[in-house]
Amino acid sequence: MNIILFGAPGAGKGTQSALLVERLSMKHVSTGDIFREHIKRETRLGVEAKVFMDKGQLVPDDIVVNMVEDVIKDLSGQSFILDGFPRTVPQAEALEVMLQNNGLSIGRALFLEVQKDLLVGRLAGRRVCSGCGATYHVESKKPKKEGVCDLCGSPVLQRADDKEDVIKTRLDAYEKSTAPLKSYFNKKGLFAAVSGIGSAEEVYDRLVAQM
Ligand code: AMP
Repeated sequence: MNIILFGAPGAGKGTQSALLVERLSMKHVSTGDIFREHIKRETRLGVEAKVFMDKGQLVPDDIVVNMVEDVIKDLSGQSFILDGFPRTVPQAEALEVMLQNNGLSIGRALFLEVQKDLLVGRLAGRRVCSGCGATYHVESKKPKKEGVCDLCGSPVLQRADDKEDVIKTRLDAYEKSTAPLKSYFNKKGLFAAVSGIGSAEEVYDRLVAQM
């Protein structure tokens, strides 16, 4: 089954996607990861997106949709997870057309539910491996050696947009633009909410039960 995984920043979309990829061999499409890859390679798209990402704002819909259009074309033959896309109602409408044009469909739009006060702590304490993207947390999931990834040995850093002043803008953007997708997917008969509180394993079991 193809799924959309959505929720506020810090709800655990990346962590759950990694488990779904590992255990169910799903393909993971994260627009945030794609943008970060473009920024690393200093492409034109990366330069364009960085201006918005650094401020915690959403990248404009036309830029995101153009980028996803190319990705969607390569998605047949394997179940996939859309993580962080769509993030606005216009993106969801554009996705519907793109899927139709490529003979694809979504089985569920799974919403990871976590209350706001927990999100700030999760995001501010998050650290990410600059090499493989593995995620850590300064309190709840420290690497064995401080600042070094357990998996690949690369430096573990804080994302620029996980700084406290940017977090607020990201959460506001979520409330304003992404939260309305709950009723959008509900009307389409695709919506299911899953509590994102508890261990990654507990949340994973809840997610899979809805698929
Ligand atoms: P994420 O890694 O999903 O938290 O995304 C990081 C940042 O990338 C977001 O704060 C946005 O600036 C940008 N971004 C990722 N996906 C989207 C999207 N679907 N629409 C607009 N901006 C996005």
